Amino acid sequence: MKVGVLALQGAFSLHEQVLNRLGVAAVQVRTPEELAEVDRLVIPGGESTTISKLLEANHLGDPLADRLDDGLPVLGTCAGLILLATAVMDGYEDQRCFGGVDMTVRRNGYGRQSDSFTVPLRIHEWEIPFPGVFIRAPVVESVGEGVEVLAVLDRVPVMCRQNSVVVSSFHPELATDDRVHRWFIEQDWST
Ligand code: GLN
Repeated sequence: MKVGVLALQGAFSLHEQVLNRLGVAAVQVRTPEELAEVDRLVIPGGESTTISKLLEANHLGDPLADRLDDGLPVLGTCAGLILLATAVMDGYEDQRCFGGVDMTVRRNGYGRQSDSFTVPLRIHEWEIPFPGVFIRAPVVESVGEGVEVLAVLDRVPVMCRQNSVVVSSFHPELATDDRVHRWFIEQDWST
């Protein structure tokens, strides 16, 4: 399996490191050709406004939308969640939303960089809490009916799934815990 990490801006190398630790061949994606070859894709944290612009500048916007339509499994974290939402509040006017998960999100809803925090999260049915690292994280304001909420913080969704698209407002690549990546890699998303 070839797992791509969108490498236009942001925390892509940390995702690569986690994937490498899991024994998965992770490749950086910067071109439509590279995107066409991957079986899974991670969209990292960073600055969603910048990543959105760079996606268009690199002619990746429409190919990414097409691959999402075709059911490409995608993990989006923080800025990645924003890009995969259906609507974004407090974004730039021309910021692109790919709509992989039916949700409305508010950029920087958890505050500024100095308001960063780590909190144990109950994900899915996992027994052991996962350390959720929040950095200028987006707040999920609402989710549509087809969305499975996998984790909440104070009743607000912080990890969700719709079909083969998984998003988190926190940064699993910053935790010394690879369960989110492992689950994303090992899951059979075709069923
Ligand atoms: N605030 C950033 C954005 O709007 C996301 C922050 C992050 O990815 N750590 O894109």
